[in-house]
Amino acid sequence: MLLVFALLALIWWGGAALRIQPAIRNLAMLAVLVAAIAVNHFLPDGHVVRQVTGQDPRFWYLVLLLGSIGIGYGYFVKFLRREAVHAEEAHEKRAQRPQAKLGPVSAALASPPAPTVAEPDKPAPAANKLGPDELNRYARHIVLREIGGPGQKALKAAHVVVIGAGGLGSPALLYLAAAGVGRITVVDDDTVDVSNLQRQVIHRTADEGRHKAESAIAAMQALNPHVEARAVVGRLSEENGPVLVADADVILDGTDNFETRYLANALAVAAKIPLVSGALSQWEGQISVFDPANGAPCYRCIFPEPPAPGLAPSCSEAGVMGPLPGVVGAMMAAETVKLITGAGASLRGGMLIYDALWGETRRIGLQRREGCPVCGETAG
Ligand SMILES: [Zn+2]
Repeated sequence: MLLVFALLALIWWGGAALRIQPAIRNLAMLAVLVAAIAVNHFLPDGHVVRQVTGQDPRFWYLVLLLGSIGIGYGYFVKFLRREAVHAEEAHEKRAQRPQAKLGPVSAALASPPAPTVAEPDKPAPAANKLGPDELNRYARHIVLREIGGPGQKALKAAHVVVIGAGGLGSPALLYLAAAGVGRITVVDDDTVDVSNLQRQVIHRTADEGRHKAESAIAAMQALNPHVEARAVVGRLSEENGPVLVADADVILDGTDNFETRYLANALAVAAKIPLVSGALSQWEGQISVFDPANGAPCYRCIFPEPPAPGLAPSCSEAGVMGPLPGVVGAMMAAETVKLITGAGASLRGGMLIYDALWGETRRIGLQRREGCPVCGETAG
């Protein structure tokens, strides 16, 4: 008898380990039980096979009956659950109909952006409900335990400001839009040049001469019409900065000059929101999350002084391997999704360095610096 139970357990747990579908495992277990019944029915008393399979067919009839009830109940619950999901989807579809024009709500606004940004801050809670297309579009997020429905709604409710639509901004913006971040603001004063296209994959050849911020939001809207993308054609400044980040949840810095980096850092520290920062040089990229509001250092703690002129050559001077900003920019988007959804552990207080030339990564810890002029106690 134990032999049969051992066989059933092997089919169920062993099959699960081999990722065999439950329906197939159920069928296999049914076959074993039928065989046990048949053996005990038709073989003569005292037969060795009957001895090891329990002797009495009635016992196996009982096991089969109880097993069938259990499995049938499981299928019934599954059926009810599916019906409930369908009903909810149908309900959401009906509720969505009046606001079906949600589509591409975006504004390409020239700097100064102040008047538009001052609009009502948080969308009404109902606006954060996911419609049928969104449930389908984000299905691979929603099945992730760490994101799920609540995480996806948090993404939809979030506002991310991305400084720079260049090498790092390109992949970061595309992935943030694809991931369903509700509002994305892009700040860039540059125009697309053919020499950018080796790595700045959000722009097309036909975009040459166009403002990068505008080219970027066109690409994001084409990718995901549910995203409210906003272009700010201009440089991040002390004047427009505070307004731009007023209701932001995260700032991404993909620029390559220290002046803007320091400004983005000061804005993030003042707003008590995390700054996801990436940097590149030739074959090496680095990424970190600066977040003094949560005990991590700020950018200025780590880079207190700008480097002497000539010591930090730009991409145009030193060159950069095309896919490298893709790797680091995608990591920046991943850290942002984690920050918004609360998934996993962020790179706060750490810096990840990726050496593309030798295919190596390493992570170093970062400490807050006492007396930091930006996040220290005497700051401000
Ligand atoms: Zn600091």
